[in-house]
Amino acid sequence: MIIAVDGPAASGKGTIAKALARHYNLPHLDTGLLYRAVAATVLRLELDPAIEADAVAACDFDELTLADPVLREDHVGKVASIVSAHPLVRAALLQRQKRFAHQTSGAVLDGRDIGTVIAPDADAKLFIRATPTIRAKRRHAELQAHGSMLSLDRVLADIRARDQRDSTRAAAPLTPAHDAALLDTSFLSIEASVQKAIALVDARVGGQAERETTAPEARAKAS
Ligand code: C5P
Repeated sequence: MIIAVDGPAASGKGTIAKALARHYNLPHLDTGLLYRAVAATVLRLELDPAIEADAVAACDFDELTLADPVLREDHVGKVASIVSAHPLVRAALLQRQKRFAHQTSGAVLDGRDIGTVIAPDADAKLFIRATPTIRAKRRHAELQAHGSMLSLDRVLADIRARDQRDSTRAAAPLTPAHDAALLDTSFLSIEASVQKAIALVDARVGGQAERETTAPEARAKAS
């Protein structure tokens, strides 16, 4: 089973995707980390994220970069959203994500274009939303916990700028797949969001799971 979880920054998609992976016992890939690794490499090499060739050169990043805590920093997220707008950067990261999605065990992936580009054939697609103000408050609290002094207004402005860049770019813009189930987490606790997400996935794959677990004889009898 492939589960695609898409949505904007701080919508709760990462937390939901991790919980779904635990619940269904599937491997999970946070695809944002790949773009963040490209961004961190661009910054380390003092390249220009706005220049496509510079960003492409950083796609060959060292695998150890994926575990670097610097990837979680806000400025790296901002640069990730700049490098991710280049079609050649997306192309360089495409096969790796498709392979992960289509491994035999199944998988959960979260990002911006999982349901539309990476796994349009996913068994269940969720698009997670929350208002910009609520997302900014969540991100602000998270940053404060890590000692950041950024103001809430600044975080909100960054979130709006990132939404604008991610949803207006030509290459794989942030948009719900036509067959995605929408889940607004604005007024839901983490626990309630996860329960809703599980219910939505079960509703999407219920028929399929039943077909797979029902023996042919039982199906023949039932019909
Ligand atoms: O999800 P996260 O905030 O870590 O992603 C960082 C940036 O990487 C996003 O703002 C987005 O521009 C880009 N991204 C993307 N496609 C994905 C995942 C992330 O363009 N599948």
